[in-house]
Amino acid sequence: MFNKILIANRGEIACRVAATCKRLGIASVAVYSDADAKAKHVAACDEAVHIGGATAAESYLRIERIIEAARATGAQAVHPGYGFLSENKDFAQACEAAGIVFIGPPVAAIAAMGSKAAAKALMHAAAVPLVPGYHGDNQDPQLLHREADAIGYPVLLKASAGGGGKGMRVVERSEDFAAALTSCKREAASSFGNDRVLIEKYLTRPRHVEVQVFADRHGGAVYLFDRDCSVQRRHQKVLEEAPAPGLAAEIKREMGEAAVAAARAVNYVGAGTVEFIMTGSGDFYFMEMNTRLQVEHPVTEMVTGQDLVEWQLRVAADEPLPLTQQQLKLDGHAIEARIYAEHPARGFLPSTGTLKHLRMPEGVEFAIDAGGVGESGRKAPVRIDSGVREGDAITPYYDPMIAKLIVHGATREEALARLKRALHACEVVGLHTNIEFLQRIVTSEPFATGDLDTGLIERHHDALFAPAKKPFKEALALACAALLTREGGTAHGASPWDALSHWRLNGGYTQTLGWRNIGDHSDNESAFTVRFARNGGTQTLDHDGVREDFTWSNGTGQHAFCATIGNARATGRVFVDGDTFHVFCLGEAQAFEWQNLLAHAADVEGGEGRLTAPMPGKVIAVLVEPGAIVEKGTPLIVMEAMKMEHTIGAPTAGTVSEVLYAVGDQVADGAQLLVLDVQSV
Ligand code: ADP
Ligand code: ADP
Ligand code: MG
Repeated sequence: MFNKILIANRGEIACRVAATCKRLGIASVAVYSDADAKAKHVAACDEAVHIGGATAAESYLRIERIIEAARATGAQAVHPGYGFLSENKDFAQACEAAGIVFIGPPVAAIAAMGSKAAAKALMHAAAVPLVPGYHGDNQDPQLLHREADAIGYPVLLKASAGGGGKGMRVVERSEDFAAALTSCKREAASSFGNDRVLIEKYLTRPRHVEVQVFADRHGGAVYLFDRDCSVQRRHQKVLEEAPAPGLAAEIKREMGEAAVAAARAVNYVGAGTVEFIMTGSGDFYFMEMNTRLQVEHPVTEMVTGQDLVEWQLRVAADEPLPLTQQQLKLDGHAIEARIYAEHPARGFLPSTGTLKHLRMPEGVEFAIDAGGVGESGRKAPVRIDSGVREGDAITPYYDPMIAKLIVHGATREEALARLKRALHACEVVGLHTNIEFLQRIVTSEPFATGDLDTGLIERHHDALFAPAKKPFKEALALACAALLTREGGTAHGASPWDALSHWRLNGGYTQTLGWRNIGDHSDNESAFTVRFARNGGTQTLDHDGVREDFTWSNGTGQHAFCATIGNARATGRVFVDGDTFHVFCLGEAQAFEWQNLLAHAADVEGGEGRLTAPMPGKVIAVLVEPGAIVEKGTPLIVMEAMKMEHTIGAPTAGTVSEVLYAVGDQVADGAQLLVLDVQSV
């Protein structure tokens, strides 16, 4: 076994590989770009080498620089992770030439599978079933068009060198073929530097089922069962599970054996995935082989109890496979959800920013601080693989993944129930995420019943993207509770009035809090006010014209709150970021912005001690009396217009000599509201 390896990757996969190294007593070397100097993966490794600028091209894709780093640190082997250089045969070759072990398949196997077209020719020879189509060398547009016509529409054009869901075009009719070919070739050339395409029959309502294979240098080759990765957006996986649900044992065995045959056909060594596309009737066809560890490998680890990175290291160190096919056993069911910083409602656009608050459900993190991960780590009911911590940024340079949430259960139902709970416990503040979208998918009818196919998201688009109906009143009550706590009201519903003296109005019995619901999607704003009234021992809260009794307490832990409003009782967690209150309750995330009177007092109207109404509206609070000495910025009058509160603050220090309006008065645009005597101070 190796003493030291270099991990030529970043993010969660680099942390994941480092965790196994730690467990096996292997020293690990991280590499990092300018943007990653303080990244989690750097801290997860024993040593780290800076390899260049923020973009992948300037760092994680620089073959010579990485080889140099391995040499300089004395690493005996390089683990490429996934993405970046993991399927780059030149990199594998460069490692070999430098006398460093590439933890992956032989160069020839990468090359053979690197071209989807060439791979299909090889698979055909090995009697692995293929989707009807054309994968020949001749790329004459007329010939391609005739082939497509012969296959029958719809067809799928694919970049032979493609990956990551890029470079694919569905063509519905012969008339559209020429234009689709041109655009597919253009994308293939710019994304993969190679414009060769292949054509496949486009299957309707297919499933994506893949098989994890492993081979060693001693003639051993096994399959570690199957995964279903049908739930995709833009041909990219969102949810993955093992084993693939609802398939007959016979089909699974055939697929497993076909996958091993595919690996053997290219003298494969190490971890690989053979992807199949499957029809409703259970026919399956080879799609491609990914010659690396997959993003979704944890689901296989959970149902087999094996550490696939350990297997990779052992095989790379020339050891035989740890288990035979007969020894491999399936245990229960596992599901992975990819939590991304992205905006599902805006075409899954990546969202960048700082993770101001990050809380993942209780689980074992397959990372350095999990200590003796061992069996418990792999078989824990909830596992989080993440490459970021609270305070880290999601930058535009790399994949916007925040974490992978992986759950295990004795059955699919149990795993699914656990996944729903776990998703409810995720809290992310600072950028948009797909958490709510994931919750909707996992609670949808087709997902719950295992009726999976690659069109699931598109077909259920309306339900999955409909505006959310959220527990608004409960969340608002929790936001009020958090605000009152922050402003000095003590726990257990004690009177906030004393602490909030600057809000005290003339009678002192009514207070108004202005809020703006900024939701998760800032396009969905609404402004409203909450009024508190005190009548003997009872506090009430007015919202939407309804008055209800209100009590609250600060629960266990800084962020936990409990509130009752009318007969609704809510417990939840509130994360406060400045004047924005992020409320996590009943599985929903909502945000409310407090219209802070003091902060807004700086937006003063008028000047020279003359204060005028910024718009027509109603005076809802007069905060000063004639004779009051005020500082610059002291709130003087609160107006309400268009459901929004506007605070009129003193433009400068002075003495209030006259108040011209009272609570309830309507004022015209530009009306002078009070007189401030500047000289007298
Ligand atoms: P998996 O099949 O393991 O789920 P994905 O297709 O989601 O893999 O890709 C895994 C990672 O590798 C992603 O970060 C993706 O962007 C990247 N990736 C995949 N193929 C390519 C490629 N040909 N070029 C660059 N990056 C790729
Ligand atoms: P990539 O290298 O980008 O992963 P794949 O060939 O693996 O490309 O295809 C990605 C996805 O596209 C599949 O998981 C599946 O959803 C869809 N797909 C691929 N081939 C077909 C096909 N012939 N018919 C229907 N859908 C397909
Ligand atoms: Mg694929």
